Amino acid sequence: MSKFWSPFVKDLVPYVPGEQPKLTRLVKLNTNENPYGPSPKAIEAMRAQLDDGLRLYPDPSGDALRQAVADFYQIPASHVFVGNGSDEVLAHAFHGLFQHGRPLLFPDISYSFYPVYCGLYGIPFEPVALDEGFQIRIEDYARPNGGIIFPNPNAPTGCLLPLEAIERLLQAHPDSVVLVDEAYIDFGGQTAVALVQRYPNLLVTQTLSKSRSLAGLRVGLAIGQPELIEALERIKNSFNSYPLDRIAIAGAAAAFADRDYFQQTCARVIESRESLVERMQVLGFEVLPSAANFIFARHPQHDAAALAAALREQGIIVRHFKQPRIAQFLRITIGTPEQNQALLDSLAPILSA
Ligand SMILES: *Cc1c(COP(=O)(O)O)cnc(C)c1O
Repeated sequence: MSKFWSPFVKDLVPYVPGEQPKLTRLVKLNTNENPYGPSPKAIEAMRAQLDDGLRLYPDPSGDALRQAVADFYQIPASHVFVGNGSDEVLAHAFHGLFQHGRPLLFPDISYSFYPVYCGLYGIPFEPVALDEGFQIRIEDYARPNGGIIFPNPNAPTGCLLPLEAIERLLQAHPDSVVLVDEAYIDFGGQTAVALVQRYPNLLVTQTLSKSRSLAGLRVGLAIGQPELIEALERIKNSFNSYPLDRIAIAGAAAAFADRDYFQQTCARVIESRESLVERMQVLGFEVLPSAANFIFARHPQHDAAALAAALREQGIIVRHFKQPRIAQFLRITIGTPEQNQALLDSLAPILSA
């Protein structure tokens, strides 16, 4: 605490991101990045931006990207908001849509940035317990609230909530914004974007960090009816008018336009996931059903923190959360077949030691 700080800074509890190690020879399965590179067309589009044009500010609303997203989903561009990573888009949504003085609801096991934003913006919140199978039970959200948010598939569990359950939730809470954080939707779920035209209370966020392999570029987006999008625009234009630079707008738009590459890499990740799940089960792990690019697994005979430490010694990093209900689980990002093999090769002797 310094006398120079605004008083509330002392009480902030910031998010702790997964480690980004400086060593490059590690098998990095801890922050759900895509094991494949971005679309070659996205790289080309970004290279094409590297000229004197960079002396000019970018388009403040990133219209080329908004249009690419609109084309992808066959929706009007007025339904799309873009920002510097979906974390920033989420922050604007918390700020602009959830500050009603009533508690925001989200699962007890969920993206740990949500309570951080609540702290930053002074939003009261109530965690809603997942059921014993770590699934979201929408009936449990039937209580007074100032909004509802959850990742779908959920993180860090990987479990998917079907679209018809989301629709029932939207119908049960017509006066609340329901924000579906679809960071992992492309790895096996059905997007709620199809419901946006019918539900003015639905906001969907997505990121280019996972399924489009652009975590290093920092691009995220929100899709909703223009009334919700306008709130995000108003916040953005009161915070940073140019969240996306020229390179990011061009690269992200090209990534959205390259459907073939996107579908191929997602299919490869899904295939690797299915094979990894089977082989982890053979090793005795219990693995929650995953529709994401990671799995959430526990071993009945081995402590998760000890496993993570032992893997780390062999140059493989996975994510372990100390939170009570999930302290015996490991979250493991799906890597290339070679990386997954390295994980299994390291696990086998650890488990039999
Ligand atoms: C990765 C992730 C994000 C953040 O994505 P960025 O666009 O990289 O900021 C948001 N929500 C969840 C659930 C995530 O896992």
